[in-house]
Amino acid sequence: MTRGRMPVVFVGHGNPMNAIEQNRFNQSWRRLAERLPEPDAILCISAHWETARPGVTASAQPKTVHDFAGFPRALFDVRYPAPGAPTLARRVVALLAEEDCRADPERGLDHGAWGVLHPMYPDARVPVAQLSLTLGKSPVWHDALARKLAPLRDENVLILCSGNIVHNLSLFDRSSPMPAAYDWAKDFDDAICRAVETGDQRTIINFVEMGGHARLAVPTPEHYLPLLYACALRQADDSVAFFNRDVLSSISMSSCVLGGAAA
Ligand code: ZN
Repeated sequence: MTRGRMPVVFVGHGNPMNAIEQNRFNQSWRRLAERLPEPDAILCISAHWETARPGVTASAQPKTVHDFAGFPRALFDVRYPAPGAPTLARRVVALLAEEDCRADPERGLDHGAWGVLHPMYPDARVPVAQLSLTLGKSPVWHDALARKLAPLRDENVLILCSGNIVHNLSLFDRSSPMPAAYDWAKDFDDAICRAVETGDQRTIINFVEMGGHARLAVPTPEHYLPLLYACALRQADDSVAFFNRDVLSSISMSSCVLGGAAA
């Protein structure tokens, strides 16, 4: 039986409170999950797990990692009890054997993963594994590694990439709950979304060529790279649908689904 190719999702996760607040951002995440085919497992690629070499969580019952400070008790009380996906982890290790990817039996799910999964799949029944972002590698290297994960889309695995196209916390305007976007943030977000729409992976990889805007929008690469992974996994006949196209001050919430279900 062929079940078709699973879409790939990039979610702009923003504030950790999006895990538990009711708002338009996580309502879109929930609606998307309802429209996606039911996956056998989820491979999450989040901004919040960086390692010296590629790693994949292999625990049968991954912990919920509260990797933030200064948030209400309610956020620290969240547990996301999804089973782990050791079989998927072994598959990822095999697909990334040339990169010396290692299974990590101890590592749990960071808030870039569970903070999105909790609203998307509140019943926590789908097994989840997480792939780390490898430190110190070029966008070209990440693009090539991401492409090796493409067979998973034909194995009913949902690849959920979680970051932010624009992410500059030091310039974030905390004076209002919905602060207006900086012009440079909006311009960078628009340019990258245009590149996603047209399948212009060269621009997505070479984002630094956007100069000052790129330096402000992507001061460090970890929130941007999940978008690059999602786009590297796009196949020529995949549709593109955006959701949560919005920039708050210096953080973009723009998200997309590549292939299959519209958001
Ligand atoms: Zn984050």
